[in-house]
Parts: sequence; C-alpha cells; structure tokens
Amino acid sequence: MSVTLFSKIIDREIPADIIYEDDQCLAFRDINPQAPTHFLVIPKKPIAKLSDAEVEDQALLGHLLLIASQVARDEGLEDFRLNVNNGAGASQTVFHLHVHVLGGRSFSWPPG
Ligand code: 5GP
Repeated sequence: MSVTLFSKIIDREIPADIIYEDDQCLAFRDINPQAPTHFLVIPKKPIAKLSDAEVEDQALLGHLLLIASQVARDEGLEDFRLNVNNGAGASQTVFHLHVHVLGGRSFSWPPG
C-alpha cells in the first residue's frame, strides 16, 4: 500500500487534532467536518480499505468500533453515525481505512 496522508498523521509528519491514540489506532478530527463533531478512527496498520481486511484483522476491526464508540461518548455524543466509505465509487478519497464518526446533529436514513 502506498503511503497516504493518514500514515503521515500517524507518524506526526503532518499535523492533526488527535483526540485518542493507543498501540493499534488513532482518532483525529476531520479537517472538513460534516457535523458539529466529526472525527476519524484509523488503524495504525496500513489497510487501504475495509474490503482489504483479512481474518487476521478481525480483532483490530472490532477495536476500531469500540474506540469509535468510546471516543464518541468522551465527546459527549449519545447518538452518532458511523460511516465507512469503501472504494472510490463509495466516495473513499483517502486509501487508508477509516471510520467516520459524526454527531451533534440529526441524520436521515437512508443516506444519499
Ligand atoms: P473518505 O472520503 O476517504 O471516506 O474520507 C476522507 C476524509 O479525510 C474526508 O472527510 C476529509 O475531509 C478528511 N481529510 C482529508 N485530508 C485530511 C487531512 O489532512 N487532515 C484531516 N484531519 N482530515 C483530512
């Protein structure tokens, strides 16, 4: 996988508003927020997109969801939306797996 700007955020080569970090993942605020609260949870392992994840990544994927929920709670969110764009046709623009966490406003369903 080629180096993306999210790898550079992990390596502190470019700045980001990091709100959580552990040995497996990082959460930081989206530079172009689509809700009053909008942050991304990314694995430190450079998986390009969700469909590239393998069985060996099962625990890591679960960890990303638990941290998304934990950080959302820490951000004062009770209701929130998770979003994973998988591939360019689904509007993925940065090819390092990331979970969007959005909150602080209402959301409609189904999404556009
Ligand atoms: P995607 O469209 O790939 O699912 O989402 C990529 C997200 O990364 C977008 O919401 C975009 O605003 C965010 N983003 C792109 N570049 C940067 C950056 O340099 N810093 C931060 N914090 N977010 C970024």
